[in-house]
Amino acid sequence: MNTSMTILYKVHNNLYVNLTNRCPCACTFCLRQSRDTMEESDSLWLSHEPDFNEVKAAFEEFDLEQFNEIVFCGFGEPTERLDLLLQTAEYIKKNWNKKIRINTNGLGNLIQGYDITPKLEGLIDTLSISLNTPNRDRYNELVRSKFGDISYDAMLEFAKNAAKYVPNVIMTTVATTISKEEEALCEKICKELGVTYRIRAWEN
Ligand code: SF4
Repeated sequence: MNTSMTILYKVHNNLYVNLTNRCPCACTFCLRQSRDTMEESDSLWLSHEPDFNEVKAAFEEFDLEQFNEIVFCGFGEPTERLDLLLQTAEYIKKNWNKKIRINTNGLGNLIQGYDITPKLEGLIDTLSISLNTPNRDRYNELVRSKFGDISYDAMLEFAKNAAKYVPNVIMTTVATTISKEEEALCEKICKELGVTYRIRAWEN
């Protein structure tokens, strides 16, 4: 495995932020199993976890005006580094006032041990949460969370709470990975939680 210090990388018209390689899950479909890079990035395996000064220095290398959205994503779960994520989001808002999204597995409350959703208010515009399946047992088989069976309900609760503080909360499944009937169930779950359901294109 190659490592580098790719804190920021471009994906289409967006700038992605890679703060950590830590994640409580070991998803069967995780792209990290088969690749080290995304789009044109160098390796997203970090030689070490960056601090705020390193993150700021990385942002200074880019012209943020050319990007639509700044997305916390990368080769790990962004909420593992919640404090740095929030500090960075504040820095982005203050200096460029850009739209900010977090792509997350929705387990941030379990990772941090408390309800983190109020902290997202005013900083995060969009949360994209991986729902994956409407079935709890299937979810456990797929994501293999270190938190075990409580993960699915915790993820749904996270989405519901986040909808109070984040304008755009989206839960996603990947096209062709579940049946049309299961997609209809996901739609129903999202409606009950007060969030938007989206089916993402499959990527390998
Ligand atoms: S939550 Fe994301 S980073 Fe973590 S194992 Fe699953 S796909 Fe990979």
